[in-house]
Amino acid sequence: MSGELIRAVLLACLAALIALPVGHFAAPWMGWTLFCVSLGLQLAFHFRNFARLDRWSRAPVVDASLEGAGAWDGVFGRLYRHEKDLRAQIDQRDREIAMLIAAGQALTDGVVLLDRNDQILFCNRTAEMQLGLVIRTDRGQPIMNLVRRPEFVAYLKAADFTQPLTLRSDRAEDRVLSIYVIPYAGDRRLMQIKDVTQTDRLDRMRRDFVANVSHELRTPLTVLAGFLETLQEIEVDRDERMRYLSLMSEQSQRMQSIVQDLLTLSSIESAPPPENELVDMATLLDKLRRDAEALSGGKHQIVVDSDGRGDLRGSAAELTSAFGNLVGNAVRYTPAGGTVRLVWKASPQGAEFAVEDTGIGIDPKHIPRLTERFYRVDRGRSRDAGGTGLGLAIVKHSLNRHQAQLDITSTPGKGSRFAARFPASRVADA
Ligand code: ADP
Repeated sequence: MSGELIRAVLLACLAALIALPVGHFAAPWMGWTLFCVSLGLQLAFHFRNFARLDRWSRAPVVDASLEGAGAWDGVFGRLYRHEKDLRAQIDQRDREIAMLIAAGQALTDGVVLLDRNDQILFCNRTAEMQLGLVIRTDRGQPIMNLVRRPEFVAYLKAADFTQPLTLRSDRAEDRVLSIYVIPYAGDRRLMQIKDVTQTDRLDRMRRDFVANVSHELRTPLTVLAGFLETLQEIEVDRDERMRYLSLMSEQSQRMQSIVQDLLTLSSIESAPPPENELVDMATLLDKLRRDAEALSGGKHQIVVDSDGRGDLRGSAAELTSAFGNLVGNAVRYTPAGGTVRLVWKASPQGAEFAVEDTGIGIDPKHIPRLTERFYRVDRGRSRDAGGTGLGLAIVKHSLNRHQAQLDITSTPGKGSRFAARFPASRVADA
């Protein structure tokens, strides 16, 4: 600005130099007028530029409209560049913030940012769904007013975040959430919400499974141990001893069946996808009929209902074992004199293998749970029939591996129908 000052002084001197001879040779008022007019013009020039600057500073627009003359041109140029740089920086920040928000939205975990008063600053879509929040209207609201579960409120108030909080979601009762609170930026908090429904379910299943296996094996083991103790301590006659030994053999067979079924289950669970062997259904149906007749010992009528069309593609061993399980159940849960029907129907759209019986039937409330491991409608009856409670679990698993579905319909006292439905991709020559 010192250059501009010198320039202003020089202009004033020039005006005085011109005004002096005019005032001396013409008239003094003319000299003064000339001097004042030239000073006035300079002032007007500066005021004009100042007014421009004032206007522009109220609403800075980054375009080329801010032009001035003389020193003002330099000032305007620097201001213009400064404003332009600032805009570019703001745009860059905006883009970075937008990217961060997009990344937060893309997270499969819920994220909620809270200020020092636990008011919501931000939450992503996943958190909106998990906690029933709507960020548009809930921003700035205390989260405890919106998520009112007592355990959640107590957890935030206690402010001990060494362990996550496990919360059953408010909206869908069957969802389980694990909430981590991480302090950041001094007194702010970041809530990370993981949906652990699946892990929780698997954990529960694993615990139940271990408890069930222990329970199932403990019963025959206790019986065996009891007989052994009796035989060691008491003199028993030969007949009694034979009776004990036969009961012990029954229990050890029971344990063998359980262990065998457990091994089958674990082997199909860890096995690679089933092979694509061609399973000849006419042969398989014939084998199933003969096995059923052997198991029934002539007490049931075994009927095969098939038009002989179509075969299956898959693991012959797994399908034979799964169908054999269904047929075995039908015989075991059908009183003497009843009928067991093996039905096979194939078309280019898919195929169905069904076992229908006229047995004891199943109350509808049990049907959804029948394929759970060790689930039995009547534990005593299943045990007497030589069941392990694992048969249908194995069937379901084997069918799943063949993209097939198990449909169960039953009427207590009338009979049941267990149908395995296969997609077209598993059917050959239909
Ligand atoms: P189990 O070894 O006890 O037969 P499954 O898994 O094969 O075990 O079957 C589970 C339960 O389903 C059985 O205990 C029985 O209560 C019921 N169930 C299976 N098949 C039939 C059937 N055909 N008729 C009636 N109940 C059945």
